[in-house]
Amino acid sequence: MKNEKHTIHEFDLNIIYDFFSNTARQGPGSPEETLKALSFVDGLTEKSKIADIGCGTGGQSMVLGENTPCEIIGVDVWPDFIKQFNQNAHIKNLQKRVKGIVGNMENLPFKEEELDLIWSEGAIYNIGFERGLSEWRKFLKPGGYIAVTENTWFSEVRPAEIQDFWQKAYPEIDTIPNKVAQMQKAGYLPIATYILPETIWTDYYASQNLRLEPFLKKHNGNKMVEEFIASQRYEAELFYKYKAYYGYMFYIGKKI
Ligand code: SAH
Repeated sequence: MKNEKHTIHEFDLNIIYDFFSNTARQGPGSPEETLKALSFVDGLTEKSKIADIGCGTGGQSMVLGENTPCEIIGVDVWPDFIKQFNQNAHIKNLQKRVKGIVGNMENLPFKEEELDLIWSEGAIYNIGFERGLSEWRKFLKPGGYIAVTENTWFSEVRPAEIQDFWQKAYPEIDTIPNKVAQMQKAGYLPIATYILPETIWTDYYASQNLRLEPFLKKHNGNKMVEEFIASQRYEAELFYKYKAYYGYMFYIGKKI
């Protein structure tokens, strides 16, 4: 189907929001992987401030809240995600230290050198890896850390079908050495770079799969929804076919 080649970015954002609300995570990731990445970050105290950019409903922010003594500010552009975020913080009794605010990653409401750690899982692609790393750097204290996940090519050469799909969906997708070089050029010491396990994608697609049919029923006859579902299915199908060629990586850097 022609429409299956559409990518998520081309669809109505409200529909996407609706599909991703009421899920623990809105992108690929897990508490175990958040904790692993956190293990590379030194020196956090109760005086430290963490920003979680593109936090969604805060799955990873709550893990940060439960495993550090820091103040955590989640920032997301979708007010309903932030509402759920703050409800989740209350449920976990973290509301004194973990707060969600509505904001745009292109214009963050922080002061220069205010933050000890910038976190962003499955979200920096919205501004672009290079732009995000370079624009957000000023908010970090010297010696502060950044930890982001990013879709990455595992090989120099890829089959045309997957190359074309991601080139269109996210032209900044690149290889591991190129991403590490970008991090260095943006003014960070690359501290750790590693591949997230395949299960973060398979779990993500499996959880989506359960919601696709009911979502289609809920929006019965809506062409946009049909196209959105088809695009999600196509992306998952491509993943299973070409997972040897790309995946999500954690990139952790230290401001120098
Ligand atoms: N970090 C969460 C959510 C990832 S999905 C998780 O891993 O589960 C990407 C998130 O980025 C969405 O919640 C989306 O609303 C948010 N987002 C997209 N563009 C944004 C922008 N310009 N500013 C802030 N948040 C944005």
